[in-house]
Amino acid sequence: MLFRKPKYATIPLPKKKIQAPEGLWIKCEGCDELIYKKDWQANQMVCPECNFHFRLGVKERLQLIMDEGFEEFNQGIKPIDFLGFVDSKPYVQRLDDAQQKTGFLDAIVTVKGSIHGCRVVAGALCFDFMGGSMGSVMGEKIALAVNMCLEGKVPLVMFCASGGARMQEGTMSLMQMAKTSASIARLSEAGIPYISVLTHPTTGGVTASFATLGDIIIAEPKALICFAGPRVIEQTIGQKLPEGFQRSEFLLEHGLLDMIVVRKEMKATLARVLKMLE
Ligand SMILES: [Zn+2]
Repeated sequence: MLFRKPKYATIPLPKKKIQAPEGLWIKCEGCDELIYKKDWQANQMVCPECNFHFRLGVKERLQLIMDEGFEEFNQGIKPIDFLGFVDSKPYVQRLDDAQQKTGFLDAIVTVKGSIHGCRVVAGALCFDFMGGSMGSVMGEKIALAVNMCLEGKVPLVMFCASGGARMQEGTMSLMQMAKTSASIARLSEAGIPYISVLTHPTTGGVTASFATLGDIIIAEPKALICFAGPRVIEQTIGQKLPEGFQRSEFLLEHGLLDMIVVRKEMKATLARVLKMLE
């Protein structure tokens, strides 16, 4: 048979790619669709196709929820590397990188102000700062925020997003679970409301302490909320987990949450809950 494969047949054809100018489109984590960035930003970083709530920066979050004129406090508290911890990079280097990247000294910002006229002390975790991990500074700033609530008889609202305890601070980071839980218990004893808002993702030691101790626990839709993540559990038990396991909707159905609130209605809902608890 006189058939020779033409040479060019061996040259792989370029794979068909969606050509999008950089920065105009983003891919949705929820549905894998490409979303036009301007539509997404106008929609408060929520996917218009599947309602997936992307992570919101701390500044954007606070601006969205708080009335104008809120003030940050304790912004000068900074972490120290008391263990001289080095993994693939020294902890001091990681801190420096995260501080440069986010403009914050640690993974939490605490503010005082109001939500539709209701006075609150609020805290927001910064996931871009070492995965929103909880070290000594986060524990201390939450304890100080609680003190402020106790002094002024003002409710506390926390916006959580975290990968858990900060391993670079060893046992001290685990101790913050007890410290924050004890602080929240003091609020409870004084009859001061604490509202916890869980956003994607809230995991590990943060979930296992102050994040799930709210008098009212609210979550954004489809947020991953867990102690150990689904991959770790699947590998451990050698079984596939049910669809939607550890997502807000599953957790609402199983009693961990009080409500799921879309971003657009978060401020109004918080104000309504705060007024009811007054
Ligand atoms: Zn989507």
